[in-house]
Amino acid sequence: MKLCMIGTGYVGLVSGVCFSDLGNDVICVDKDLNKIKNLKKGIIPIYEPGLDELVLKNFKNKRLKFSSNLKDSILKSDIIFICVGTPTKKNSSAADLSQVYNVAKEISTSINKFKIIITKSTVPVTTGDEIEKIFSKKVSKKLFSVVSNPEFLREGEAIRDFIYPDRIVIGTKDKRSNKILKNLYSPLISKGAKYINTSRRAAELIKYASNAFLATKITFINELSNLCEKIDVNIEDISIGMGLDKRIGSRFLRAGPAYGGSCFPKDTKAIVSTSDKFKTNLSVIKSVIKSNNNRSSLLLKRVFDILNNNIQNKRICFLGVTFKANTDDMRDSSCLSMIPSLVKKGAKINYFDPTGKKNVFNKIKNVTFSNDVKSAITKADLIIIHTEWNDFKSINFKKGVKNKNYKIFDMRNIYSAKKMKEQKIKYFAIGC
Ligand code: NAD
Repeated sequence: MKLCMIGTGYVGLVSGVCFSDLGNDVICVDKDLNKIKNLKKGIIPIYEPGLDELVLKNFKNKRLKFSSNLKDSILKSDIIFICVGTPTKKNSSAADLSQVYNVAKEISTSINKFKIIITKSTVPVTTGDEIEKIFSKKVSKKLFSVVSNPEFLREGEAIRDFIYPDRIVIGTKDKRSNKILKNLYSPLISKGAKYINTSRRAAELIKYASNAFLATKITFINELSNLCEKIDVNIEDISIGMGLDKRIGSRFLRAGPAYGGSCFPKDTKAIVSTSDKFKTNLSVIKSVIKSNNNRSSLLLKRVFDILNNNIQNKRICFLGVTFKANTDDMRDSSCLSMIPSLVKKGAKINYFDPTGKKNVFNKIKNVTFSNDVKSAITKADLIIIHTEWNDFKSINFKKGVKNKNYKIFDMRNIYSAKKMKEQKIKYFAIGC
């Protein structure tokens, strides 16, 4: 099939590459000319394990193309996936749909034969209805079908998640589109993915409801960890004990920093905004947002306690700054608020992240990048394990840290508190 992905970011690039690997002809389009120029040279704009090889393989065999010419790419394609960003609006908690609607307007001027227009971007319920209105102004109803097909991949595991998804959700009542899309996804269905055909509005809501539920699970266990810290109970025992109940499940049930990334913070806000629009009250999700917003200040307070409120000139080393492991994505990472707050209190920060130096910290005084774990930890007064990269799971702190009075705050509970105690390391973790 001939596919066009509009927006070559985490979702558009990964799904475009995977679709081409399944034998389809795919054009990945982006308005960012530099991104397209680099991709044509084999330079991948994001860090995603396994993506480089897959791009190279499919670019070489010419099933995968990159273009900045939207009109031409639409004309050549049968199925168009809208994969542009849907960030939070400025001064509001609603999703900013301007990128989606701009793209929809552009596509509607290039329809030469029947095409399926798919929102893969996360869009609030009724966005598909609005896109249909945009198309109806320009094109005969017989020439297009607007479908919702939300994406559930996780950064860091995106290729695996795309090829082995738990479910594929197709929101359309149009039988022809459903048949074509079931055929497109048949290689994944035959590997065990569940295929769900539902209404467009339901598909749009399934995505938000899923993200809001996962954010709730994380926030639930984060709050419980606060209680555990007061009663000499280890939150890890609670996670295991709860997670073994199949009705609950162990995933997204590990205490840690505030949830971040490009999805949960914006999607929880957007679903609340949608419910407000329809005059209902998603009070649980509202509490989750509030609790998560407080999380970073709570962990900062813990840092102050660990350092006996003596922050001035303390050398604090952050291991990992991305919002989770195996991605370079810094969007809404909790250290974006924690690091500047610590600097304000007089701390000297250095950080190491396997995905390299982050521009966002360049302008902040007293924040420096270290080239590796060894140089990052050597002079630290406090080491904060912020992101759960494998690189941080077997560090020999005794050998690596030259400062005798150093402390460790493990925000991911990677290490065993018992073993740390045996080594006489001043070790602090979450929820114990
Ligand atoms: P991204 O910011 O990485 O990529 C979006 C791309 O769209 C950018 O490269 C941008 O230049 C391009 N773009 C914007 N306007 C364009 C236009 N008019 N023409 C061509 N290209 C244009 O975003 P992302 O992380 O891939 O997310 C995209 C959507 O998918 C969002 O709605 C997001 O919520 C959703 N989503 C993201 C993830 C994730 O893990 N990142 C997972 C599931 C769903």
